[in-house]
Amino acid sequence: MEKHEFTYKTTTLTYYQSSKTPKLLLVSGFHGDETDIVEPLRDIVLTNARRLPPFIFIPVACPSAVAAGTRLNKNNNDINRFYYLNSPEDEAQALMKLIAGQQFDVAYSFHEDPGETRFYLYDMGDGVEGKKIDNLLLSVVNLGIELFNGIDDLEDPTLQIDIVDGYYLEKEEQAVKHGFFNGYLAKSNLAHSHVNPEIPGAVSREKKAAIVQAIFDSLIF
Ligand SMILES: [Zn+2]
Repeated sequence: MEKHEFTYKTTTLTYYQSSKTPKLLLVSGFHGDETDIVEPLRDIVLTNARRLPPFIFIPVACPSAVAAGTRLNKNNNDINRFYYLNSPEDEAQALMKLIAGQQFDVAYSFHEDPGETRFYLYDMGDGVEGKKIDNLLLSVVNLGIELFNGIDDLEDPTLQIDIVDGYYLEKEEQAVKHGFFNGYLAKSNLAHSHVNPEIPGAVSREKKAAIVQAIFDSLIF
């Protein structure tokens, strides 16, 4: 599958697109310390391109953070707080402009939680069908990964969400308020259904790849 490039100011985003009107949005690489999942994700998407709904896949949403291997980008900002109209972050603008005018059925942002060994996800909007989520969480447990229970991030005032058995249904208004990518998708009517898996950062690369595979098997294929 052909690789494309989209440039806005000094930011160039690489992406793969299977249709002019993609219904599935897949994004990873928001944070530079969460990149072990990018290659497994690329492998799954590219080897299953025909099996997937029409999609656009952007493996690296924040090139400067990924190049530096850090959560923060070249301006010392967390890019996932800068998705809103007139954002001063060019890397956020680049992604927003790349997907402008689309209408996705569902969007996925793939993250890792560095230092974490347990799995969880944020669901938003229409919410993924309960049975599919149950299947995913069971698959993850079967991989030997525990499900997260408790507060997601005690240090970040924009998070501090109480997650139960690996699952949290997020509110659009909160996501919009904090400048999260999913909040932007909802507010601009690009996608109301959004899934944000947080793959544990402190497990082996093999386990991470297996979790990504389980997400596709349970929720996407
Ligand atoms: Zn992240």
